[in-house]
Amino acid sequence: MKPSAKATDAVWAGEEELLLTGATTVPVSFGVAHGYPDVESWQAVALGHAPGYIYARNTNPTVEAFEQKLRVLEDAEDATSFATGMAAISNTLFALLAPGDRVVSVKDTYGGTSQIFLNTLPHWGVEVALCDTSDADAIEKAIGQGCALLYLETPTNPTLKVTPIERLAAAARRAGAIVAVDNTFATPMNQNPLALGADLVIHSATKYLGGHADAMGGALCGRRDLVRQVYHHREINGASLDAMSAYLLLRGMKTLGLRIERQNASALRIARWLEQHPRITQVNYPGLESHPQHAVAAEQMRGFGGVLSFALTDGMEGVKAVLPKLRLMHRAANLGAVETVGGPPATTSHVECTPEERAAMGIPEGLIRYSTGIEDADDLTADLQQALA
Ligand SMILES: *Cc1c(COP(=O)(O)O)cnc(C)c1O
Repeated sequence: MKPSAKATDAVWAGEEELLLTGATTVPVSFGVAHGYPDVESWQAVALGHAPGYIYARNTNPTVEAFEQKLRVLEDAEDATSFATGMAAISNTLFALLAPGDRVVSVKDTYGGTSQIFLNTLPHWGVEVALCDTSDADAIEKAIGQGCALLYLETPTNPTLKVTPIERLAAAARRAGAIVAVDNTFATPMNQNPLALGADLVIHSATKYLGGHADAMGGALCGRRDLVRQVYHHREINGASLDAMSAYLLLRGMKTLGLRIERQNASALRIARWLEQHPRITQVNYPGLESHPQHAVAAEQMRGFGGVLSFALTDGMEGVKAVLPKLRLMHRAANLGAVETVGGPPATTSHVECTPEERAAMGIPEGLIRYSTGIEDADDLTADLQQALA
């Protein structure tokens, strides 16, 4: 599908039935409970036999509009939402795994996800095999050795490694495993894991979907039986998305097409420019021909996203000198916003690791993660130029 058709869905999808009295936007529905005139109609909704709402921990009209819009964008059977991206990830893993199961994933997952793999799941008797993210052969081999769930994240944070979804999903299917992919970095504009064979796609809506760094949320889309299973886990454990955040995320998603188009183009330009700069030793961006998995990225992505990272010749000293000079970069632990946001993984995503552990993950001390905003690309390049001078 053309990305521009997705941009249309980002504006219109999932809202029609929830627009009140001809309004252009869905209402922010703050009601905690929805009532019924008789036991029969109440029971029909409560048992899921008729559409409707019972209690806001399950869902609510504004939250449902958010879920439906994302469901259409990911071309999924079903979708549900969560208070945060981590709630989406943890609920998915806790609902679908049982003691004795084996999970296969990669070493470079998001920091919070990595904590679940390293600490929480082993504590509950789930075996976790974490493979070298750029070694598809090793991942395929690990799947063959037993796998209940394959968990991928591509591109990864902060080194933008790419894994082949279609190939590994096929291997997982042969092993009878469920395939879940964190699609936060790519967004549904640039990549649709379900179309590549995944069963489930996860988003931290906090990042690109919302796009304005003012609301947290998470989502799970995909096979109905699995999404329902996770939904029933979430409605009990209570990590539900609230109506106001759902509204902000919905409003942000209206411009997803425009934002991603701009951010794809600017990030590629900036990555190419940085590659030529004498103070830069390494630029990680899947859109660059020099990226080790560029061919895989070009096959499974329509655009390469807004995040890149680059390493300075003089390590952390260089980072300390350059960061404060950047006028058009919010120095913070976030990404995917309309503002350019950035920082060193050593103080953000990988703060809990030692320099040696970061080096083993391919994260030099001089690395800066750069989440390209929607500012003019010439202005961003000029800003980098003066800061690096
Ligand atoms: C931020 C992020 C998460 C976690 O999302 P929160 O909304 O902060 O809980 C998960 N995966 C990726 C790739 C992320 O960037």
